[in-house]
Amino acid sequence: MSLCDLIIDLDCFFASVEQQVTPALRGKPIAVIPVKSESTCCIASSKEAKKYGVKTGTGVTEARQRCPNIQLVESHPSLYLEFHQRFISALKSCIPVAAVLSIDEAWCHLPTSLQKPLEAAKLSQKIKATIRDQLGEFITCTIGVAPNKFLAKLASDMGKPDGFFVIERSDLPHCLYALKLRDFCGIGRNMEQRLKDHGIQTVPQLTAASRETLHHIWGGIGGNHMWYWLQGEITELPPTQKRVVGHSHVLPLELRTKEGVHSVCHRLIQKAAMRLRKMGYFAAGLTTFIKHRDHRAWSDDITFTETQDTFLFLEAFETLWKRYPASHSLIPNATGITFFHLIEADKVTPSLLLTDPRHEKLYSAVDALNKSYGKNTIYFGGALGSLDYTPMRIAFTRIPDIETEG
Ligand SMILES: [Mg+2]
Repeated sequence: MSLCDLIIDLDCFFASVEQQVTPALRGKPIAVIPVKSESTCCIASSKEAKKYGVKTGTGVTEARQRCPNIQLVESHPSLYLEFHQRFISALKSCIPVAAVLSIDEAWCHLPTSLQKPLEAAKLSQKIKATIRDQLGEFITCTIGVAPNKFLAKLASDMGKPDGFFVIERSDLPHCLYALKLRDFCGIGRNMEQRLKDHGIQTVPQLTAASRETLHHIWGGIGGNHMWYWLQGEITELPPTQKRVVGHSHVLPLELRTKEGVHSVCHRLIQKAAMRLRKMGYFAAGLTTFIKHRDHRAWSDDITFTETQDTFLFLEAFETLWKRYPASHSLIPNATGITFFHLIEADKVTPSLLLTDPRHEKLYSAVDALNKSYGKNTIYFGGALGSLDYTPMRIAFTRIPDIETEG
């Protein structure tokens, strides 16, 4: 059976970045902490610290007990973001990226020509060498390859650290027997309990269960998918969550300039970001669309680590804006922005710390003021000049959530 999917996961990401940029930390047990405080937890640990049992979530006091020599390093979110961007561009130089899954993890479809173990291994060597070259020799990764994304993720976990691990269909199910139920994506504490309630305590029992049994335990289609994934089949879960949030705007005559459209985009992003936060979502991508008087249209998108932070959205927009053609003959008459790759807030993990806690306080305060005193009571300066105009609805077929525009 073909190896269709590849998952790449950087090893001990935050800790490795710290060791890469600070040679004195290399080869030493270190842990990254969000703030200097005895009551905080480690958000990452180096492979040297892992040997002592210090891992993500270990409290600082316990980390010191387990490893008296441990060095605690305060986190540098903007540095991690920079390495994340270098990671994704290094990866993209080797293979197209299907999705960025988190700050240190990405998913790729293997092209047909690379779906055999030997070819996949050669590609993985190339990816590893490129990452070493572009990010530094202390940033290592583990690559998992399998017939589907679910198994590729497991393979990347099983190959850690600095590994390459293949799960072929012929390896199933025995290659999974050493795992615990909780190692499987989609089996959290509650699902583990439900499985146990139905007599499934181990992975061999899980892989031997019938599709009907799993369907029953999951209470729906999720169980069917788990069964197919465990067989090495490709099946995608139907979208169950809201996919995009966006706004669009026909420009009033006064704003049909490059500066005008820029300021409208700022306002639309601020408005959509507030809505995103209210709905309890994070976004990991932004599309901007500009329609011109001569019917030419421009659109571009950018992906980033999931966030709710207006500052980061506006920064991402400025990156897109630099790609907008400078031609003076282009007269914009409508624009729209859309956040995509939405993730429910409770499913978002460590990259949360990329948001400066002061930003969070600030935009929460901005949201509260706008809610109490009316929209645009307070706003980020980029929107200045576009606030007095009431948006009109426009049917952009390219922006799928037009019904939410307001
Ligand atoms: Mg990782």
